[in-house]
Amino acid sequence: MLSAILDQLKPYRAKLVAVSKRRTIPEIRAIYDQGQRDFAENRVQDLLERREALPADIRWHLIGHLQSHKVKYIADFIHLIHAVDSLGLLQEIDKCAQAAGRVIDCLLQFKIAEEDTKYGIPDLATAEAMLGSAGFSRLSHVRVCGVMGMATFTDDEDRVRAEFRKLAGIFKALKWAFFKDNDRFSELSMGMSGDYGIALEEGSTLVRIGTLLFEGED
Ligand SMILES: *Cc1c(COP(=O)(O)O)cnc(C)c1O
Repeated sequence: MLSAILDQLKPYRAKLVAVSKRRTIPEIRAIYDQGQRDFAENRVQDLLERREALPADIRWHLIGHLQSHKVKYIADFIHLIHAVDSLGLLQEIDKCAQAAGRVIDCLLQFKIAEEDTKYGIPDLATAEAMLGSAGFSRLSHVRVCGVMGMATFTDDEDRVRAEFRKLAGIFKALKWAFFKDNDRFSELSMGMSGDYGIALEEGSTLVRIGTLLFEGED
């Protein structure tokens, strides 16, 4: 399934993040052995355990909600944190990154789905206030590389497309206002097993796929 997915991503130049949550170490290892190096977990504890058990050249992504007090456990190795939704969390990441002697790449997570989730920045204005704040300008060890979002879990393709389009619009607006000359602000993390085709059409650069990759028939 890996090569079939990669073939689909190629014309869009999008990258695959293999979502390994709930998979066994041998299952993950099998995908690794086919050449995949970017893997994602949604819980810090699982991430730490899997990292311990798997090869060191894996680039680990965190895609779930991150509590501030857990940042210190991942600061010395995490490749990309996808779900940053507050200045407070960015400040904690900055502090831990500094202590680890690194700069940590982060994405701002937006709430684009209709579902009632607690997490995610609610709208563009909130993000603009955050990125324009004095607190943000003081950060030196985090790099905001783009945005991430999850569409509503529904068969209604028009709705999913509208939500992805909204996120792409937010990405463009932030790029224009805050990151115009910053090539690092380039990632639009959207699309999962059920909706990545639509996400690619709407400009995704990073799809996060678990179920299809690990359970899909070749
Ligand atoms: C689980 C998860 C995915 C992958 O979902 P699949 O439907 O298994 O592909 C992607 N993104 C996030 C944030 C997830 O929690």
